[in-house]
Order: sequence, then C-alpha cells, then structure tokens
Amino acid sequence: MTVPVFRFAPSPNGHLHLGHAYSALLNQQMARAAGGRLLLRMEDIDRKRCTPELEAAMQDDLHWLGFDWETPVRRQSEHFEVYRQSLDRLIRMELVYPAFLSRSDIKHEMQSATEKGIVWPHDPDGAALYPAADRALSMRERQQRMNDGHPFSWRLHMNRALEHVGEPLFWHETTVDSNIEARPQDWGDVIIARKDMPTSYHLSVTIDDALQGITNVVRGKDLYHATSIHRLLQHILGLEPPAYHHHDLILDRDGQKLSKSRRDTSLRSLRLEGVTPEQIRALVGV
Ligand code: GLU
Repeated sequence: MTVPVFRFAPSPNGHLHLGHAYSALLNQQMARAAGGRLLLRMEDIDRKRCTPELEAAMQDDLHWLGFDWETPVRRQSEHFEVYRQSLDRLIRMELVYPAFLSRSDIKHEMQSATEKGIVWPHDPDGAALYPAADRALSMRERQQRMNDGHPFSWRLHMNRALEHVGEPLFWHETTVDSNIEARPQDWGDVIIARKDMPTSYHLSVTIDDALQGITNVVRGKDLYHATSIHRLLQHILGLEPPAYHHHDLILDRDGQKLSKSRRDTSLRSLRLEGVTPEQIRALVGV
C-alpha cells in the first residue's frame, strides 16, 4: 500500500498568521490520521519578497506550534532548472507564448472595450483576462521584441492547451468526496513564467507536488479555482494528480481573509503577547 504524502507549502514573504496555523495543523492532523508523511515546502520563487530571515522565522513559528515535518525542506528557489525544463517543453509544444502587454496595457484595452459596451471577462480571482486579440501578433514579431529586450511573460495559450487535452479534466475533492470538473478556460491565458524567472506559482506548485509524490493537497479555499490550472498542467506534462482538500479560511472580525501584512493575527505577535500553542489550536479548532 502506498503511504499518503501531505505537504504544507507557505511562501516566506511575511509572517505566518492564524490562517496558516490552521492549514499547517490540519495537514498534520490528516497526515497522522492517514498514517502518512508530512513535508514542508518553501514556495520562495519571488526572490524580492522572500528572504532567508522570513523563512527562518516561519520554521521557528512552526516548531513552536508543534508542527513536525520531514527534512530536508524543499526550497523552490533551488530548483529553477527543473521548472525551466518544463517551461521549455511547453515552449516546444507551442502551448505558451511570450506576451508583451503589461498590466496597465490590459487595463487600457479593457477600458476601451468597456466604452464600446463590451463586457470584459474576469478570472475567478476577479482579474481581467489577458486580451485574446494579442494572440494575433506573429511569432516573428514576438521573437523580434524578445531580441530587443522588451519585458514579457510566458502565457499559456489556453485555447490550444484545451484542444491539446481534448477531454474534460476532473480532480478529486475530498471535502465533498466527489470529482470536480476543472474549468481552466475561466482563467484565460495565465502567466506560466516570466522573462527573468522560468516559472510561476502555478507551474512550480504543479511540478513540485508531482516530484515530491504528494498524494493529498490540503490548502485553503482561496486556491480552489486555481486547481483547474494545476489539473490542466498536470495533464499536459504527464504528471499524476493528487487529491485536493480545500479547507475553509479563517476570517478576521470583518469577514475578510487574513493577510501577512496584518500584524494582529501573526503567530509572532500572538506569541509575544503570551498566547500558547494550545490556545492557537483551540482558536483554530484543530
Ligand atoms: N504558497 C502558497 C501560499 O502561500 C500555497 C500553495 C499551495 O498550498 O498550493 O499561498
């Protein structure tokens, strides 16, 4: 029988808050109940915002909380070459293309379309989709702009990717014990990598979950819809999909999602105030 493998995968770009504590402890509880393994992964591809100090603080908070993980910790920043290989594969398959419109260009396109009465589509996170019309730019022109050093992102050619897959994709969602149909089309041409970084959250999380043999992804509901993209990438890259468990989020008093920039719910400040790990467990209910 295969041993289930769980992981907690924070980004060390701030301090852990109560929401992370819940997610980490739930992973631990589910891993133990399943007789499984528990890994810690640092999703630190953003080299500007993620620092070794923040990572050390996170590990310290997790130890304090009583979260036990297997070592070594996988640090995504140490595996850019692995992600680059998959990116190259997607480039060769012509499923990604260099896209030159910046965020403000997209906004501009959206505004002029809206003035003409066109309803601009948005992704499940509420961001405007990348203008489909930009795909008309020839590959020659794109190559020229890359050679000229223009900034760009590698975006998934969603229509081509869907055609390539040619069948509906599903993931197993353990919160409801059923198979959910993925809707990657709702995301449009998502960013897969950047000019100076051969990956993105979506690409590296998908690759790492497969490389580390993760069987059960337990993470917040805020990533529920992103799973559609991960499912699509898994299929294209021939990777085994894990089961997913998207847990409820811990909200603040105003019903808003907690954020790393809010100090009052950070484990650091709660520790300083004398709150104990037992009290944190009671607070998040794990
Ligand atoms: N690194 C992501 C975050 O901190 C979570 C990734 C995941 O669990 O899939 O939000």
